[in-house]
Amino acid sequence: MAAVVAPADSVELRRAMIAVCRRMNDLGINQGTSGNLSVRVDGGFLVTPSGMAYGDLAPDDIVHVGPDTGFTGHRRPSSEWRFHLDILAARPDAGAVLHTHSAHATALSCLRRGIPAFHYMVAAAGGRDIRCGGYATFGTQALSDRAVAALHGRRACLLANHGLIALGATAEKALDLAVEVETLAQQYLLALGAGEPVLLDDAEMDRVLELFKTYGSQDPAAGRRWLKRPRQPQVSLPAAKKIKT
Ligand SMILES: [Zn+2]
Repeated sequence: MAAVVAPADSVELRRAMIAVCRRMNDLGINQGTSGNLSVRVDGGFLVTPSGMAYGDLAPDDIVHVGPDTGFTGHRRPSSEWRFHLDILAARPDAGAVLHTHSAHATALSCLRRGIPAFHYMVAAAGGRDIRCGGYATFGTQALSDRAVAALHGRRACLLANHGLIALGATAEKALDLAVEVETLAQQYLLALGAGEPVLLDDAEMDRVLELFKTYGSQDPAAGRRWLKRPRQPQVSLPAAKKIKT
């Protein structure tokens, strides 16, 4: 059964988005106001505003972007609203898009390197590797196009000289995956500093991808979540609307 998507004026959902943004800061994977978050709602999506500290956000600071790209609210949307729009349009499996300039993923993106199958948890992003999308100026259609391409068949990617994007059925799951990608980037950089990591072959990664499915988990990063997350009440967000194809 298709999940119910929240209405755009849901205060509960807006509060939950702010909670996820603040947790991003608490976890140390976001610097200043560079990160942003969107969640699919009935008739478009909600996105964090441009240039506001998460600690100052109130529910009515969250901006609604409608299907005609019209903005509703008294704030301007994140400067990256364009890739949130295009990713949510291209990926009906995603209910939320989270973007951050976490230190290790960003460092790797500056080398223009994605994350190969140096560790089986790379499969948490849905494929045999995590790609690094090409560089384009922030906020542009070119960057959005490159992000959508890098995410093809994946739930996360790096953006060259910029940061990372993680998708999830909910904002919570997108955050979990972003933490996982940042952890993998850190481990990969550590391994590169000590030598040339041995990569798992395609057959092994396919086995792992199959195992993740067999376990029935859409959230293979959950195990690490408890190691990193401060003990706080969890807030559930609505899942993505399922679109029949
Ligand atoms: Zn950015």
